[in-house]
Amino acid sequence: MSSKILVLAGDGIGPEIMAEATKVLSFVDNKFGLDLHVDEALVGGAAIDAEGSALPERTFELAKAADAILLGAVGGPKWDNLPPAERPEKGGLLKIRAELDLFGNLRPAILYPQLADASSLKPEVVSGLDILIVRELTGGIYFGGPRGIRTLDSGEREGFNTYVYSESEIVRIGRQAFEAARKRGGRLCSVDKANVLEVTMLWREVMEELSKDYPDVELSHMYVDNAAMQLVRAPKQFDVIVTGNMFGDILSDAAAMLTGSIGMLPSASLDINGRGMYEPCHGSAPDIAGQGKANPLATILSVAMMLRYSLAQIEAADFIERAVEKVLDKGYRTGDIFSEGCKLVSTSE
Ligand code: ATP
Ligand code: MG
Repeated sequence: MSSKILVLAGDGIGPEIMAEATKVLSFVDNKFGLDLHVDEALVGGAAIDAEGSALPERTFELAKAADAILLGAVGGPKWDNLPPAERPEKGGLLKIRAELDLFGNLRPAILYPQLADASSLKPEVVSGLDILIVRELTGGIYFGGPRGIRTLDSGEREGFNTYVYSESEIVRIGRQAFEAARKRGGRLCSVDKANVLEVTMLWREVMEELSKDYPDVELSHMYVDNAAMQLVRAPKQFDVIVTGNMFGDILSDAAAMLTGSIGMLPSASLDINGRGMYEPCHGSAPDIAGQGKANPLATILSVAMMLRYSLAQIEAADFIERAVEKVLDKGYRTGDIFSEGCKLVSTSE
């Protein structure tokens, strides 16, 4: 069955890293007979320059029709003076996320043993780290109402937000996390603050109910304060973590830093049917754009995630991930992950 892939290279280092990722994509397409149909379109600053909009109609139509989207990066100083809603990030990337209802954010934190000295933690604590954080992306306290800042009768100001999750929102992110755990080590840790916050008491209850449908996945629960501590103390105890928008925001940045290498981290944002957008965690890196210095591995690993999560091509995904390990074994490094005794190579090398 043919799958439609939309490639959005974007800005800055986006086109450079995407050129390498699409080579890998067409290689596995041929090798595994995937029958991929690949389209390319403009997004972000490149689209503003060419068509006057960060998300042109053609791009949006192709995005809606695609089984999966592969994105490089958007934005750069050139477009920073535009009104926020028209900028590459909000007008392009965030709009695709919202319009396609990509509510499930999957961020692996993997530390290849070859790069263990890049982490700020001791090698024995992080070497071989391989965890996945599943963060709810379109609900929770970031979106709940009422919200605002008001002045009380006393004249004092008060800020307020609403932390709300409906049962159906918890169910859909929960299912995504259980499915992901099933494809990995079979262990899921749900992170909440159920000792204090009612919304997360419901979260915990719903996760328990869902777990009956996934007898092959071992579910545990952890309070977010403890989870933060455990992530730094002994991160390898985790397989998959599922949590709400705010806790996930904080924990996934902490987890990313355990690996110490921004050029190595892929991500996925999925909808209810597993259709998704895949992109490196890093940005458009204008400081090194056009110099052949960018590390393409985060984008190449995003291709692997796309094959695993949207196209169910597990063999091809494993193949790419093993190839990345081989490259590291041989000592090839771009500047961001370079260390003494390795071979410094360019993006395309
Ligand atoms: P954004 O707001 O889009 O996330 P940012 O400025 O916060 O942008 P990045 O664009 O990710 O963050 O860049 C942060 C630093 O990491 C920069 O110095 C950049 O050169 C470097 N960097 C980012 N991605 C890569 C990469 N793939 N390879 C090498 N260095 C990178
Ligand atoms: Mg940033």
